[in-house]
Amino acid sequence: MRIFTAVLATETNTFSPICVDRRAFEASLYAPPGEHPETPTLCSAPITVGRRLAVEKGFELIEGTATWADPAGLVNRLTYEGLRDEILDQLRAALPVDAVVLGLHGAMVADGYEDTEGDFLARVREIVGPDILVCAELDPHSHLTVKRRTAADFFVYFKEFPHTDFVDRAEDLWRIALDTLAGHVKPVMSVFDCRMIDVYPTSRDPMRSFVDKIMRMEAEDPEILSISVIHGFMAGDVPEMGTKLLVVTDGKPEKGIALARELGLELFAKRGTFIMPQIDEKQAVSLALAATVGPVVIADVWDNPGGGTAGDATVLLAELLAQGARDTAVGTIWDPMAVQICMAAGEGAEIQLRFGAKSAPGTGNPIDGIVKIVKLVRNAEMRFGESYAPFGDAAHIHLDGIDIILNSTRAQSFDPSLFSVMGINPAAKKVLVIKSTNHFYASFALIAAEILYCSAGTPYPNNPARTPYRRAPRDIWPMVENPHNPEQGAA
Ligand SMILES: [Zn+2]
Repeated sequence: MRIFTAVLATETNTFSPICVDRRAFEASLYAPPGEHPETPTLCSAPITVGRRLAVEKGFELIEGTATWADPAGLVNRLTYEGLRDEILDQLRAALPVDAVVLGLHGAMVADGYEDTEGDFLARVREIVGPDILVCAELDPHSHLTVKRRTAADFFVYFKEFPHTDFVDRAEDLWRIALDTLAGHVKPVMSVFDCRMIDVYPTSRDPMRSFVDKIMRMEAEDPEILSISVIHGFMAGDVPEMGTKLLVVTDGKPEKGIALARELGLELFAKRGTFIMPQIDEKQAVSLALAATVGPVVIADVWDNPGGGTAGDATVLLAELLAQGARDTAVGTIWDPMAVQICMAAGEGAEIQLRFGAKSAPGTGNPIDGIVKIVKLVRNAEMRFGESYAPFGDAAHIHLDGIDIILNSTRAQSFDPSLFSVMGINPAAKKVLVIKSTNHFYASFALIAAEILYCSAGTPYPNNPARTPYRRAPRDIWPMVENPHNPEQGAA
């Protein structure tokens, strides 16, 4: 038995000014056939799990290219076509195969391709023909289109957000694939369109209980092979944007669609209750400055480079300066040009500097001031779980009682070590401002007296009712109050 595997993935925030070319893929993960490292990166778990199973079960795994670019904006057309064709050529060379098992993200948008995964899967199907199994693991922050459903046999999505379960879901994907090849099951996809878009952290209720429930259903009913919630991705302005419920049954499409509908309507009934409550920058800074015990961590949740933004918004910093904050540190503001100027000036210099808010509207204004350059670090890194996340050449500057870290490689604030490597003791500060939505929590909770979730400016299209979509559907919640009731017009 011969099985082909490959990975082609990124998450495209179509509103992001940071465009993606081949260098961006090479900077994040680009592994030619057979050269993928032993540890998977999010969407590449099908390769590492597949390698283990190939040895255990004795099939031949033919590896294609595995590549992933960190979330950002539109993918260059030639970059997408080049990577796609590279993998398709590898698949042609590998024929005949019994199955194609892919790692995709599901929210990639390239210049000229609104549904890149649909385009890619349709071409895979054309090459292998109608009878060969084609399946993929995907990120739930994606767009489940008719084109990709038609081209593939089944999909499995991560269930957790933060995505802690990408290896477990790759195990599910492979188990169903191998059971199908052995003739034990016949996977059929049933999809319900929830006609909504929302954000669904699974670290809190109601989504925690919902995920626990669908996992129980999978465990208890052998006819249910897999249940996925496709959260959707509100920063992707594409025609099929929105939340979907996917049930993969063992040849029971009627049962699948009934269950998908029941679960989808249950989610719809809880719309607007999933995300943690947020406050604006004025309230966040006032509360933090009034606190008697520190550090108070203010998460600038929507200027998160992990969601594809530049990470250079200054709205919170401007408010800190306006309210006269002292004993405060901000990590980080992305500004490679300002970092270069600081590097030229050197540690200890006092210079006139303009920094931040150069990438996009809704991120505030650049900050001007006489800053002191406290510490410079080339190729700075912070801890991220067991590994390290780079944030590039970085400058620790001081302005009016506030320590600010400027960085040159976009990175979300994963860990307090981002402050300590720049010479700031995070635990001794009264206020820490960071840029992250969710992933910061585990490490910052260990030192924080309090955590405030702040929605500052509009660096990210976080309010779908007001986002100027050009391609996304206008007849889903929250653009309309109840899209499942045809009596109700647009809001
Ligand atoms: Zn995701």
